[in-house]
Amino acid sequence: MSNTQIPLVDLKAGYELIEEQIRLAWDEALSGMRLFLGPNVQAFEKEFAAYCGVQHAIGVSDGTNALLLALRACEVQPGDEVITVGFTFIATTEAILLSGAKPVFVDIDPQTYTMDPNLIESQITSNTRVILPVHLYGQCADMDPIMEIAKNYNLLVIEDACQAHGAEYKGRKAGSIGHAAAFSFYFTKNLGAYGEGGMVTTNNDHIAKRVRMLRDHGSEKRYYHDLVGWNARLDELQAAALRIKLDYLNQWNQDRRNIALSYARRLESTGLTLPQEAQFNQHVYHLYVIRSSFREGLRNYLTEQGIGTGIHYPIPTHRQKAILDLGIIPTSLPHTESISEEILSLPMYPQLTEQQIENVCSAIKNYIFEFVSR
Ligand SMILES: *Cc1c(COP(=O)(O)O)cnc(C)c1O
Repeated sequence: MSNTQIPLVDLKAGYELIEEQIRLAWDEALSGMRLFLGPNVQAFEKEFAAYCGVQHAIGVSDGTNALLLALRACEVQPGDEVITVGFTFIATTEAILLSGAKPVFVDIDPQTYTMDPNLIESQITSNTRVILPVHLYGQCADMDPIMEIAKNYNLLVIEDACQAHGAEYKGRKAGSIGHAAAFSFYFTKNLGAYGEGGMVTTNNDHIAKRVRMLRDHGSEKRYYHDLVGWNARLDELQAAALRIKLDYLNQWNQDRRNIALSYARRLESTGLTLPQEAQFNQHVYHLYVIRSSFREGLRNYLTEQGIGTGIHYPIPTHRQKAILDLGIIPTSLPHTESISEEILSLPMYPQLTEQQIENVCSAIKNYIFEFVSR
């Protein structure tokens, strides 16, 4: 094939479509100069809450702080344990550690790569306070059994929805199922800012009130501080951009789903393991992740062909140096460990064209034909 450059993500392709709108909105926000939790933050909180079908959405500085604020709002303390997965971006575990709690890792379902609910109960102790599943790559964890276990053991559930804006579980939106949820608006996410941003969603008035206070130095009324919080406020310019992009989210998620279908049609005969959407889920393909036993060779070949790929993530959290250095030794997580060695993320963004998908897939088939099947 020609040396077409197909990146893993093309942020410019998305920006070009809405550049005018963003510039206008930023002009307006700058003219108003109400930059402290201003009108765009307030409006975006309402719009995002309505989108997710929840009572409360609180705009925050980023996804890691959204997780930490949710944990702190749930009154997680040092000595508490939080059950989560190792098959995720490290921020999930960082937030648990920053709250003072101890992460307890469970393995994933090898089809969906999300928390295996069957493994939770054996990890529950008298210190367990929260279960923190991750809706990885854009697909929700199997929430019903997780909520059931939480109810039986009087635990809270915080969804890490940082990769799952608009994803659905049995018709319910990600972020509306647990006691609270955390979203990230990091620029490559399905709903991404042009900087940093995040959101906590919840139907619980008490949690909402605490998140609102904690993100702004523990105050409800300015300069009166009832809690020790910190600054984790959402920025007004980011909120202005995110409001515009929220209007496109459903279309862009649908585009991602169509691209996933197109990949699946072209790759089904290759023997590669393709993403599996659980019956009860509406996957929004933040990432399109395949699995291959010859990942490194395939990846190098695609790089040579000008095709961008990624590995999300090369080392599972419980095996990262930072975590091992804390002396946290988990029971082994066989699926997490073996699947980490095989995953490969292919180009995925709403503006990816059929021709580009075709080029990616024919390069993959060429590699298999040349180097694997002979
Ligand atoms: C992006 C991400 C986060 C952290 O979000 P930031 O906005 O980068 O802090 C947390 N968890 C998961 C699963 C993520 O993908």
